Amino acid sequence: MLEISRRELFGIVSSLAPAFWLTRSGYAQAQPALQLQPLGDKLTLLSGAGGNIAILQGADGLLLVDSGLPQTAEAVDNKARSVAPVPIATLINTHFHFDHIGANERLGRAGVRIIAHDNVLKRLSTPQKNAFMNMEAPALAPEGRPKTTFSDKGQLTHGGEKIAYKYLPPAHTDGDTTVHFTNANVYHAGDLFFNGFYPFIDYSAGGNIEGMVADADRMIEAVDRKTKIIPGHGPMATLDELRVYRDMLADVNEKVSKLVRIGKTLEETQAAEPTKAHDDTWGKGFLKPADFVRMLYAGKTAAKAA
Ligand SMILES: [Zn+2]
Repeated sequence: MLEISRRELFGIVSSLAPAFWLTRSGYAQAQPALQLQPLGDKLTLLSGAGGNIAILQGADGLLLVDSGLPQTAEAVDNKARSVAPVPIATLINTHFHFDHIGANERLGRAGVRIIAHDNVLKRLSTPQKNAFMNMEAPALAPEGRPKTTFSDKGQLTHGGEKIAYKYLPPAHTDGDTTVHFTNANVYHAGDLFFNGFYPFIDYSAGGNIEGMVADADRMIEAVDRKTKIIPGHGPMATLDELRVYRDMLADVNEKVSKLVRIGKTLEETQAAEPTKAHDDTWGKGFLKPADFVRMLYAGKTAAKAA
């Protein structure tokens, strides 16, 4: 396991991790160019900084959902504030991963109120190891940690918009939160939804594919045909696209589970190509099919051994 300091995390993110997180992902190749996409009157999508960021305008400030990568912190801050001449007031984190909390310290130091699930605070307060990536991330400085936490759900009003945030049971991590702008009907799914490529699932942080399927079902219930869905990664999506994603996950889970159950080795499981039917659509981005299967296999066999 790699032990790294805060200063070195930067190096990890830009050297070791890119082999996994960045260079293999189509979205990351456009990293330097942050893009704004209007999602209605007061909402904007900010992409290109790691995880997708939602920006809500209010008279007294902006509300952000997620804050991008550490190396794009300043760029995200500036780009977000280019949307309206007001300060950033509030930040909600969908989970603790570094590509969603990268500007937390910068924004926290500027007095931005940070809201997240209890488990996000816990994980940002101590170093976190990820077995699959063989990587350790340091704790965030106290200023970057959420000051307002919740165990189940909460809501607030900002700029005339109602924001309902809700914790869903362990799936991508153990702190996954969805954020629904209910008037505008825009829904940030965090990394419970990777639109267009196989999702990373953080088994080291309580994630599992069964939870991903179950939470996809919960999200399908929470939105409607008109909802504009912001995935954690990938382009904006609709309910129909969320359903296709859910069905892909359920199918792959069923096939890999069966192979594990009958005692296949990792190599045999990969050779059986349990993702084959989906690879053309989902296997060309972030995680290649063999990597996705390896991640699921490791998670399932670890759970079985425990
Ligand atoms: Zn994530």
